[in-house]
Amino acid sequence: MVLELAKQYQSYMVELRRHLHMHPELSLKEFETSKLVQRELEKLGIPFKEVPGSTSVMATIRGGKPGKTIALRADMDALPIQELGDPPYKSQVEGVMHACGHDGHTAALLGAAHILMDLREEIAGTVKLFFESGEEFGGTVQIADKEGYLEGIDHCFGIHIWADVPVGRISCAPGARMAGTDLFTLKITGKGAHASTPNQGIDAVVAASSIVMNLQTIVSRELFPQDVGLVTIGKLTAGQRFNAIADEAILEGNLRYFDPALSDQYPVMINRIAENTAAAFRAKSEMIYHLKGTPAVINSEEDAAFGQKVITELFGGDCLYDMPPLMAGEDFAIFMERVGGLFVFVGGGPLDREPAPHHNGHFDIDEDSLWMSAALHAKYAIEYLRK
Ligand SMILES: [Zn+2]
Ligand SMILES: [Zn+2]
Repeated sequence: MVLELAKQYQSYMVELRRHLHMHPELSLKEFETSKLVQRELEKLGIPFKEVPGSTSVMATIRGGKPGKTIALRADMDALPIQELGDPPYKSQVEGVMHACGHDGHTAALLGAAHILMDLREEIAGTVKLFFESGEEFGGTVQIADKEGYLEGIDHCFGIHIWADVPVGRISCAPGARMAGTDLFTLKITGKGAHASTPNQGIDAVVAASSIVMNLQTIVSRELFPQDVGLVTIGKLTAGQRFNAIADEAILEGNLRYFDPALSDQYPVMINRIAENTAAAFRAKSEMIYHLKGTPAVINSEEDAAFGQKVITELFGGDCLYDMPPLMAGEDFAIFMERVGGLFVFVGGGPLDREPAPHHNGHFDIDEDSLWMSAALHAKYAIEYLRK
């Protein structure tokens, strides 16, 4: 029944997705997208509330029978990327594009809303629909939580349409699926001097460069070889002029991991290497900023097995697809940490060629991922509440 309904709403979802694709909005500025979502919910008679301090929307579908509460989530934001392809639904906003498929997520969750309303009497519990703003910016799950919007939710379910998974297939695996990601900034202090008299100064450029090199040994020499970790210095700024010894350097970096313990261990390792390397050159290093970003997305064995059962019932056993975890981050991890939940990747990649990567100007999704996502959202919610 769910599958037939999903196919029935496919043209509705395609139309919505293409409209959103043509009118992309950046993180935390999804004003028109949010209005469109609210308009569609109103048409369906689904009550909703805006989450203050964001453009996020939380809608509530009460089933015909009492039971638990599950939340389904779709993110809504686009990216500051110029669309380079030329589909008929090409972005009409210069330099802004749905290059991660969130247009598809929003359309598919609205499709799922239709299916759930059609089957409402059979639903044993409550289904919340969380249309989230600002995912590419760290998301707004925490705001929703602070405002009390996650109260009473027993479980959450999230989908990312993924181009590296061929359309028709779905990756639903236990364990780490996406990486935790933290940020940090180091300030290296030296002493300025004339370029001709390095002996009178302390060169922050030399110290910072050595720190960049030495930090590479965290992953290569300090982590257990089978652990997954990533230390990236993405930005290094230093100095004033070509003929002056730099008095200061700033390093900005990004840390990624699957093992949550690493999030606490990284700053200790970084400080030890940075402070001692700086000291070797008479300079000083100080960590002036460290932000814990989003934790890793980790599916429990039990939830993944249940998800696989639902997927197999809907689409057959051949649908399941093996995909290694991604080093990208996803703030849905915060939602999962808070209430427990499952995160899956629905195939959106073409079958006849290499997909363009996410966050690339040529990115696009196969729209058959829409009805599959909508069906999976609805079926997962119904089956979870039936458990
Ligand atoms: Zn993205
Ligand atoms: Zn994304």
